[in-house]
Amino acid sequence: MFDTMGSILIIDDESVITDLLKEILEEDYTVESTTSSVDGLARVRAKLPDVILLDINMPEINGYELCRLLKSDSETRNIPIIFITALSTPENETLGLETGAADYIVKPINPSIVMARVKNQMEVKKQRDYLEQLSSIDSMTGVYNRRYFDECLDREWRRCQRSQSALSLVLMDIDYFKAYNDRYGHVAGDDCLKVVAGKLQQVPQRGGDVLARFGGEEFVAILPDTPYEFVQFMAEKFRRAVEEAAIAHVSSKVSDVVTVCVGGATVKPDNKFSPLELLQLADKMLYKAKSEGRNRTYTSCLDTSPGEAAAE
Ligand code: GH3
Ligand code: MG
Ligand code: MG
Repeated sequence: MFDTMGSILIIDDESVITDLLKEILEEDYTVESTTSSVDGLARVRAKLPDVILLDINMPEINGYELCRLLKSDSETRNIPIIFITALSTPENETLGLETGAADYIVKPINPSIVMARVKNQMEVKKQRDYLEQLSSIDSMTGVYNRRYFDECLDREWRRCQRSQSALSLVLMDIDYFKAYNDRYGHVAGDDCLKVVAGKLQQVPQRGGDVLARFGGEEFVAILPDTPYEFVQFMAEKFRRAVEEAAIAHVSSKVSDVVTVCVGGATVKPDNKFSPLELLQLADKMLYKAKSEGRNRTYTSCLDTSPGEAAAE
């Protein structure tokens, strides 16, 4: 089910221990280690390992504190932490588990116990990642779902605000899709949505671009760092990609193949506007494309508008 080797970060101030653990685990996992808790914290944040093995008695930040820090940060909260320690009293163990550790291994180190406990936590982590990934994907079309889109829009909004760059949204809606279902049946309608999603997904080229199913027969793309001139170009590319898929649609009033209307909007995120306003503007442009004949593209800017541009 999971094809990648899991990654482990070992944080222990004694290099004898980190070396030994590395040797035990290296065959099955990608293992990194550090003898500094401060460096450990930085590495966790930079690399997000699957499992952390953490010593308790360390200078600078001790294991309990480090564990608390990681559990209070939403980015690192879900990484299982296994304490490796010489502190073997029930009180210490309880405190460790209470701070959010997933498991506890007492020194001296027994290789087969370490391997078994790490394996358990790795499985828990991989299951959780898998479920999380499933719940951000639309199961029918394989593109991101609405939930992921909402999260991503908020995140990109804040990021573009910090970097002072433009953020663009592109909304797409299949033309006369009710008529498609009526003519070809609902199962063929589902197949059509899958093909359209696949074609749309091939359009964005940059790593940060996100295509999601917005709902029903509507899709949406988030294009970070994308200025107004470029969103016009991208919106038109989305429209053409669907037309060129050449899916027969004899009941369409605008073409003999399946087409989409596209509405695009761009903003330089700041406190004057909200993500919802950007979405509303893209929707307004989509509505305009519908009312002016379908199979067309309109785009606009959320600030001092340079006007609306149309392409058929
Ligand atoms: P317009 O050109 O104005 O967009 O017309 P339309 O018929 O595409 O729009 P309308 O909103 O009237 O109908 C949307 C249709 O999309 C109705 C609904 O049954 C269909 N639809 C929504 N989700 C799905 C789905 O998951 N599978 C199938 N097969 N059809 C769906
Ligand atoms: Mg619709
Ligand atoms: Mg429609």
